[in-house]
Amino acid sequence: MSKYADIIIDISHEKLDKTFQYIVPDNMQDIIKVGMEVEVSFGKGKRTISGYVINLTDKASYDEEKLKEISKIVENKVDIESQLIKLAYFIKETYGSTMIQALKTVLPVKKKIASKQKKYIVSNVSNEELKEKLDLYKKKHNVARVRLLEELISEKVLDYELVSRKLNISSQTINGLTKLGIIKIESEILYRNPVKNNEKSTFDTVLNQTQQQIADDIYNDDNNYEAYLIHGVTGSGKTEIYMELIDRAAKEGRQSIVLIPEIALTYQTVKRFYKRFGSRVSIMNSRLSQGEKYDQFERAKNGQIDVIIGPRSALFTPFTNLGYIIIDEEHEGTYKSETVPRYHAREVAIERARYTNAKVVLGSATPSVDSYYAAMQNRYKLYKISKRAVATCMADVELVDLREELRNGNRSILSERLQELIEDRLNKHEQIMLFINRRGYESFVSCRSCGHVIKCEHCDVALNEHNNGMLVCHYCGYTKKFINKCPECGSKYIGGFKAGTQKIEMLVQNRFKNARILRMDMDTTRTKDGHEKILSAFADHEADILIGTQMIVKGHDFSNVTLVGVLAADLSLYSSDFMSSERTFQLLTQAAGRAGRGSIKGNVVIQTYNPDNFSILAAKDQDYEKFYEQEIAYRSLMNYPPVYNMMLIIITSKDEDDAINMANNIKDKLDGINSDNSMLIIGPAFGAISKIKDTYKLMIYLKCEEKNKLIETKNELEIYIKDKNINKDTNIIFDLNPMNIF
Ligand code: ADP
Ligand code: ZN
Ligand code: ZN
Repeated sequence: MSKYADIIIDISHEKLDKTFQYIVPDNMQDIIKVGMEVEVSFGKGKRTISGYVINLTDKASYDEEKLKEISKIVENKVDIESQLIKLAYFIKETYGSTMIQALKTVLPVKKKIASKQKKYIVSNVSNEELKEKLDLYKKKHNVARVRLLEELISEKVLDYELVSRKLNISSQTINGLTKLGIIKIESEILYRNPVKNNEKSTFDTVLNQTQQQIADDIYNDDNNYEAYLIHGVTGSGKTEIYMELIDRAAKEGRQSIVLIPEIALTYQTVKRFYKRFGSRVSIMNSRLSQGEKYDQFERAKNGQIDVIIGPRSALFTPFTNLGYIIIDEEHEGTYKSETVPRYHAREVAIERARYTNAKVVLGSATPSVDSYYAAMQNRYKLYKISKRAVATCMADVELVDLREELRNGNRSILSERLQELIEDRLNKHEQIMLFINRRGYESFVSCRSCGHVIKCEHCDVALNEHNNGMLVCHYCGYTKKFINKCPECGSKYIGGFKAGTQKIEMLVQNRFKNARILRMDMDTTRTKDGHEKILSAFADHEADILIGTQMIVKGHDFSNVTLVGVLAADLSLYSSDFMSSERTFQLLTQAAGRAGRGSIKGNVVIQTYNPDNFSILAAKDQDYEKFYEQEIAYRSLMNYPPVYNMMLIIITSKDEDDAINMANNIKDKLDGINSDNSMLIIGPAFGAISKIKDTYKLMIYLKCEEKNKLIETKNELEIYIKDKNINKDTNIIFDLNPMNIF
C-alpha cells in the first residue's frame, strides 16, 4: 500500500524526469500499479488530463497540503505506454537503476527529423541487356559492377541503402551505371511496396517434417512455458521456423520482434525476411539515428509493420499486440546490456511477453548454459534438430597438441598439420579462415610445455597478469607473485600468450609469401561498415586467408572456405571468469561450422595446449550434451550461475580511499543483511583494470540460490547508499548475473 504516486504527463524523452506527485485515494490503494494510466486535474485551470504512474511511495516529496488526489484510473485500456512503463519498472527493480534510466531504456527518443526519402535501384534496360552487360563486366573483372548486376537480375528492385552498405558497392559504381543508362534510382513515392512485388515469385520453402512439428507445437502450446528453446545446428532451418510462426501471427493481427546479434544482421539474413514479409518488415540497427529509430517505432505503433529485426534494443518496439519475440543466437553475450540498467534481453523478453500472452522463442546451435538449464528444469520447452535442412558436408575436426609441437622443435604459431593443410588449400584455390579466440585485455599465464595454467585456489578461474608483475584473481582479489618456472613441470616456457592479430598476420604472410590475406579485428573494422566490407571482399574471393577474432565466425556463409584453423583454443578457455568454458565451446563449435558449408568437405584444426580439456573435446565431437553435463556439474560445485545467482556490486571513485571505504561499508552492511548466511559474499577486491582513467574500482560478488534475495539485498543497499549521501564522484553499480568481468 502506497500513499503517493509519481505521475508522468508527457512521456517524451526530454520530459521524462518531470513528474508530478498525487495522493492515492483509499479506494485505489489496493489496485493501483506502476504503468497504469490515470486521470488527474492539472494546472491552474484544473483541467483533467491523463498520465502514467511511474512510481508509488509512502513518502511525500512535497508539502502534502498542496498535493491533489488522483481522480480516476483509466480502466480496461492496457495501451502500449502502460506496458512499456511496467516493463521499465521491472527492469529498474530487477537490475538496479533509477526509474528515469529504465524509462529511457524502453521509450524511444522523440525527435522529429525530416524523414529521408527511401531510394531504390531499378533496372533501366531489358533483362537480356542486363545479362549482356554482366558478361562484359565479368570479363573485365569489374567485381563491384558484377555484384550489383547479379543482385539486380535476381531481385529487380534493390534497396539503395542496403546495397551500398551491405553489398559494399560504392556510390561511384552506382552513379557510373546510372550515367550509362543501365540502372536508375527511384524514390519511395514511385515504388511504395518494392519488395512485395516479387515476394511471391521467390518464396517457395516448404517446411520439412521436423520444422513443421516444432512450429505447430509452439504455435499450439497454451503458453505453458516461459520460452521455447530450439537447439539446432547451424543451417538446420531455425530461421524458417521463426518465419512460419511470425507469418501465422501476422495473419491474426499480431506482431513479432526478432532479435539477432548486430554482427549477424547481414544482407543475406535481412533479404530473407524482406522476401517473405515485404514492406511489413523493418530493420533496426545501431547506425540508425535517434530520429530514424523513432520513426521505426512510430511505424510499429501505427500498425504499418508486423516484424522488426534488430539487436537488443529492438526488444522495446511498441507493438500493441505482440505475438512472438524471437531471440536468435540466444547464447550471445551482446544480449546483456553493458550499461545501466544492465538487463538481459532474454529475461526482459519473457517479462514483456507475459503482458500480451506472447511467446518467446530462443534459437541456438550452442544454447547458453542458462537456457539449457531452464529447459532441464522444464521452465523452457526444448526442441532439438541435429541435421541441416539442406544436406551439406560436415567438416572433419581434429585436435593438434601444441605441447608436442614444442617438443618436436616447432615454435611457430602454426602446427605442422595446419601448415600442410594451408599449403594444400592455397594450391586448390580454396579459402582458409584462421581464428584467434581472444578477448581484448585478457592475459592469463600458462606453460607451453605442459599446458598448466596458473589459477586461483578459491575460485578455480585463471589468474590475470597485471602490469605490476602480479597475478590477480578477478573475483576474490587473491594475489600471487609472477613466476618464471612452471610449478608443474619446471619448464621456463611459461608466460602470457600475447600475440595479437597483426603479429599473426605478419607471421602467416612470412610463411606463405603469395597468399592474399585479410585481417579482421578491432583496428580494421573501426570504420563504418568496415566489418561488412571485409566479409564481402572475402566472400568475393578477393583474399585466400581471413585472419581474425570472433567476429569472423559469425554471420556470413562462405561456401569456398574448406579450412578453419583455431590457433590456440586455450585463449578463451582461460579468460578469468566462470563462463570461459562455455564461451570456448561456443566459439569452437561456431568456428568448426564455418568449414565446408558448400559441396566440398572441409577441415577444422583446433590447436591447443589442453587436448584433454572437456570443452575442447566436446567441441571436437560437436557434442553439446556432453559439454553441458560437465559444465553444469562445475557450476553447481562452485555455486556459479545458473545453479546459483550472482550479483556484482561495482564501486568506483576518483579517490582511492573513498572507494575502499565505501566498499568496506557496503561489505559491513551486507554482513548485517546476511545474518542467515544464505548468501556468499566475495570481496571487496580491486577490478580487472583497477584504475582506468584515474578511477578506482572495487568489486563485491554475492552468490545466492535465490534470485529474489539478491534483488532485495540490492534494494536495501540502494536505500543505505542514498541515506549515506556519498559524494558524487563515487558511483555504485549493480549487475545481476554478470556475463563479463570488469
Ligand atoms: P538456421 O537458421 O538454423 O541456421 P536456416 O533457416 O537459415 O537455418 O536454413 C539453412 C538453409 O537451409 C537456408 O538456406 C534455408 O533456405 C534452407 N532451408 C531451411 N529449411 C528448408 C526447407 N524446409 N526446404 C528447403 N530449404 C530449406
Ligand atoms: Zn609446465
Ligand atoms: Zn579467487
